[in-house]
Amino acid sequence: MRTPTSGDTSIETRWGSGWISGTLAFTLGLMSLGAVFCLLYPELLTSPHLREVYPMVWVRRLIHACIVLAFALGCVSMVLRPSKVLGGVGAGSALLATLLGGASVRVDGPVRSGAYIGLDWFLLDLFLMALLFVPMERLFGRLREQAILRPGWDTDLAHFLVSHVLVQALMLATMLPAMVLFDGSVGYPLQRSVAGQPYWLQLAEIVLIADLAEYWIHRAFHSAPWLWRFHAVHHSARQMDWLAGSRLHLVDVVATRAGVFLPLYALGFARAPITAYLVIVAFHAVLLHANLRWRWPWAEPWLGTPVFHHWHHADEPEAIDKNFAVHLPMLDRLFGTYYLPERWPRAYGVAGDPVPETYAGQMVWPFSRSRAPFATETPTSTR
Ligand SMILES: [Zn+2]
Ligand SMILES: [Zn+2]
Repeated sequence: MRTPTSGDTSIETRWGSGWISGTLAFTLGLMSLGAVFCLLYPELLTSPHLREVYPMVWVRRLIHACIVLAFALGCVSMVLRPSKVLGGVGAGSALLATLLGGASVRVDGPVRSGAYIGLDWFLLDLFLMALLFVPMERLFGRLREQAILRPGWDTDLAHFLVSHVLVQALMLATMLPAMVLFDGSVGYPLQRSVAGQPYWLQLAEIVLIADLAEYWIHRAFHSAPWLWRFHAVHHSARQMDWLAGSRLHLVDVVATRAGVFLPLYALGFARAPITAYLVIVAFHAVLLHANLRWRWPWAEPWLGTPVFHHWHHADEPEAIDKNFAVHLPMLDRLFGTYYLPERWPRAYGVAGDPVPETYAGQMVWPFSRSRAPFATETPTSTR
């Protein structure tokens, strides 16, 4: 945790300074306000797939608890802290959420499904992942001194936000190539027999086929200089934690997901095991980047673990273009790209730090005319 180097009390973060209560109030207050807007405008701000499965009684209790906590913690922070910004925004957002109807806003009738943004998906995933990983990283962090709000956290949160609220657009872009190429062949005997297999067998096959596709797409992003510029955004994180994996250019996201979805759709896997795979990959991707010191030597050659993927991000010559798989390191062992020494990497990122730090800068940079420092270098020499 940072300590102020001057007398500026607005950056005081020690226990008792009102920073922890203020940050929690700020986060919970804005999230509660967002959740109340989801109740007010469900057709515009929520995903129909998630609406199908929400246990609304518990969702409303959770929103209510967040509003109360944000208000209380905001008041605590304003008492403890000379700067009232964090506490004020937290308590103020909680108050506004209550004035708008709070957790008891009624949702009347069936909700129409048209174009929407996934604000509920952003809030829910952020809440669950932060609730799980922030305490784990505090207790079992490899780098315990690394702050939760480390450099670049705001850029990564912007990536997290955009990739969640654009869930519908990204889903359509992901599915489009498979639909165009294979829609005419749906229902063939091969696909019927694939979909007729036991659920667990389909799930195992999906993991293997998806990771095989992901391996080669990922390797292509490292091999072709024009593709590497998009993927370099992901590798530009200098510090690894649960949020760092969100740092992905949208071209990288769509191309990779669409490429992985192609064989799954062509082979005709059933919807339920594909959904289960999406849940697994969403959680696993966060775990792989987390700042956790856990090692599982018995599992490391077979299953993707944090240390395996941390070496993929390492800024060390021997680790360049290694560990492309997500779930199954055996693919890297099979194709000669496996690298897993005993120790952890010393540094992460792209050599020379060519990628801009802001979200907008990272989105535009791969398209920019300025080719430096990649103009004279191959991807393998730039990481
Ligand atoms: Zn990579
Ligand atoms: Zn990564």
